[in-house]
Amino acid sequence: MSDAKLQSVLSCLSQLGRQLDPLPSMTAPDANCIKLNTNENPFALPSPVMQSAVAALERQYLYPENDNIGLREAAAKAYDLSRDQVIAGNGSSELLGLIYRAFLAPGDTVAMMSPGFSFNRKLAALQDAKFLEIGCGELQSLPIEQLLFGPAKDAKFILLANPNNPTGTFVPIADIERLVAQSDRLIVVDEAYVDFAPDSALRLINRYSNLLLLRTFSKSYATAGIRVGFGLGHPEIIGRLRNIQNVFNMNVISHAVGVSIFSHRPAYEENHKHIRDERERVSATLTQLGFSVTPSQANFLLARVPAGRDGIWWQTSLERKKILVAVFPDKGLKDCIRVSIGTKAQMDAFFEAVNDILRAESSRASAVKPH
Ligand SMILES: *Cc1c(COP(=O)(O)O)cnc(C)c1O
Repeated sequence: MSDAKLQSVLSCLSQLGRQLDPLPSMTAPDANCIKLNTNENPFALPSPVMQSAVAALERQYLYPENDNIGLREAAAKAYDLSRDQVIAGNGSSELLGLIYRAFLAPGDTVAMMSPGFSFNRKLAALQDAKFLEIGCGELQSLPIEQLLFGPAKDAKFILLANPNNPTGTFVPIADIERLVAQSDRLIVVDEAYVDFAPDSALRLINRYSNLLLLRTFSKSYATAGIRVGFGLGHPEIIGRLRNIQNVFNMNVISHAVGVSIFSHRPAYEENHKHIRDERERVSATLTQLGFSVTPSQANFLLARVPAGRDGIWWQTSLERKKILVAVFPDKGLKDCIRVSIGTKAQMDAFFEAVNDILRAESSRASAVKPH
């Protein structure tokens, strides 16, 4: 059926808009599944934080606070920075998008440590920019020479996550400092998982104007559904990002919850300890079951599956048992699954499913053995 009006509208798309296919709708997820695929933190909010969210609902008729000023001031106080060094985002993914928009013109290059957070590939495509992946292997160490003098030297900015996603590996802050000190490009360090890790690059912010840190409350403060993230850096850069940000990018609930979390961070200590302890238990158990697990400083584990099957096979087999895990298209990760650390009960259910699958596999193997 030819639709002349639609054809006329589509002909007005920009070159970039024409390159993008219409996105098909996803199937709604099965609410009965145990979600270990997107690194959420499964615990309830501390009660004072919950109370602040409920109280914020009474301001539902008002626009949220302009310029996120109260939230930015709370963040500045907590991180010992000035408010001009802080931008607040509807999750840190919004802030990543602003960085791409501010720094990349069509044809420009951005470099990311690889394997890395795949959302960045999409953001580069939206700017019609080249996405350069600098491989660092599974046990990540920072290839500083390559970043400074290799093909990445023309990148408009360099991005790495620390701890990294999907590996969970952690680069010592001294290595990051060497990179930031020697480079004259913006180095974006995405610290989405920093609260599960031993150290942070926060102390470098006042020393290096080319360092930009991203933080999020999604993973470590159990607010993935509320959307609170921060960018920390030089006021000249932060102020420009704020200037291209949408007005009212957050809402009264995300503001109230964000401010309240900054006043109740000790209430999360048990949460973070549980996840670190459980991470070690899950790692040990998976190793016993024949998986090869990358040491992680985040709230997830990258596990190479036992020989004979690939990651997608395991993902599908686990999904039949109502457990969701993540897999990755990157070469080198085809035999891996990424498992988020949930509650003890969730992880026990995961082990039960893995054991069932392994038992079915071994009886299948003995059934096909020649007699
Ligand atoms: C989850 C994640 C984010 C995005 O977090 P939001 O604040 O929820 O948008 C950013 N970077 C990395 C590496 C992540 O894993």
